[in-house]
Amino acid sequence: RPRTSEQLIRAEEPVLAHNYHPLPVVVARAEGSWVEDVEGNRYLDMLAGYSALNFGHRHPALVEAAHRQLDRLTLTSRAFHNDRLAHFAERLAELTGLDMVLPMNTGAEAVESGIKVARKWAYDVKGVPEGRATIVVAAENFHGRTTTIVGFSTDETARAGFGPFTPGFRVVPYNDLAALEAAVDDTTAAVLIEPIQGEAGVIVPDDGYLAGVRELTRRAGCLFVADEIQSGLGRTGRTLAVEHEDVLPDMLLLGKALGGGIVPVSAVVARREVLGVLRPGEHGSTFGGNPLAAAVGTAVVELLETGEFQRRAAELGVLLRDGLTDLTGRGVTGFRARGLWAGVDVDPALGTGREISERLMREGVLVKDTHGSTIRLAPPLTITAEELRSALGALEKVLV
Ligand code: PLP
Repeated sequence: RPRTSEQLIRAEEPVLAHNYHPLPVVVARAEGSWVEDVEGNRYLDMLAGYSALNFGHRHPALVEAAHRQLDRLTLTSRAFHNDRLAHFAERLAELTGLDMVLPMNTGAEAVESGIKVARKWAYDVKGVPEGRATIVVAAENFHGRTTTIVGFSTDETARAGFGPFTPGFRVVPYNDLAALEAAVDDTTAAVLIEPIQGEAGVIVPDDGYLAGVRELTRRAGCLFVADEIQSGLGRTGRTLAVEHEDVLPDMLLLGKALGGGIVPVSAVVARREVLGVLRPGEHGSTFGGNPLAAAVGTAVVELLETGEFQRRAAELGVLLRDGLTDLTGRGVTGFRARGLWAGVDVDPALGTGREISERLMREGVLVKDTHGSTIRLAPPLTITAEELRSALGALEKVLV
């Protein structure tokens, strides 16, 4: 007999590692902006898989691309070529304005790969003495969960108990060009930042910061690496968040939405002088660049080439911003937003972010809290104005 949501939640406890604390909803089906639980209750998905579902659940073009590929070829490993990969790399390079692609699977893998490539570039091209390369990162960063990456996190919960850590990282305050300038020297391989810090609470830097990072890294002769795993691929109203300042980094890290919410697909995309440093045997991944991932990734790039999703994010972003402005002082103490992406600080007197998220769940809206009293809104870019208004209405209802 099928188990109820409550039974399934209880069944997880003894057999699943406790590294998450999910909202008590058990999703069984989804389409577009909506998910349905085991009992058939419907919820508006205002998190969209942390931006992995930018095109909504089961976008028909992406599902079709996956089905077509499933019927032909799913995996070769990179021991052989496959007939989908060249096309994917060409389209992704063209979309981003860069030259070469290193396909991986998860976001953390793309970050790890980017770090390796930046270090290799520093030794082979820049001439940094072997073993001395440094990478400058920002405080409050979130780049993933592997040991190297949590080693340069400033979040104690992410780090504590997982050392010893990889050396070679310097942490500076985010959105502070003077601090960045002071940290960069002849050993610097790269500056690695999120153009908007997602997990930190959707922290949007001051106008001029990204252009400043571009200028500073160019002058210092080091790489500008932008982690657009959460901010990229339409979320902010542009294909890339760095486009808001007309900036092109030397290396982009992409993931999440690149797999269309169907398969894990990530990539390092960079200039030829940078990614060209890798030689056979120096890096790889059994699943990276597999034909199913390449087929879905190509379909994702094709959706982005239409510009429709970027346009929707920009237009509906105005509605989101207006709605949050209206709630400011009425339960909302502040917010930061760009495109269809917002970090909303709620009055702690009304509850923690978690409690607000649970109340929203009971109103049929799914969100995720981050850091105390902040909730994050990141709906699918396919959401309608009416659906967005109803989510804002639910927020008003639980706050006011
Ligand atoms: N980088 C950024 C900016 C992210 O937001 C995330 C995930 O939230 C990651 C990297 C890690 O991605 P993954 O969870 O796929 O390893």
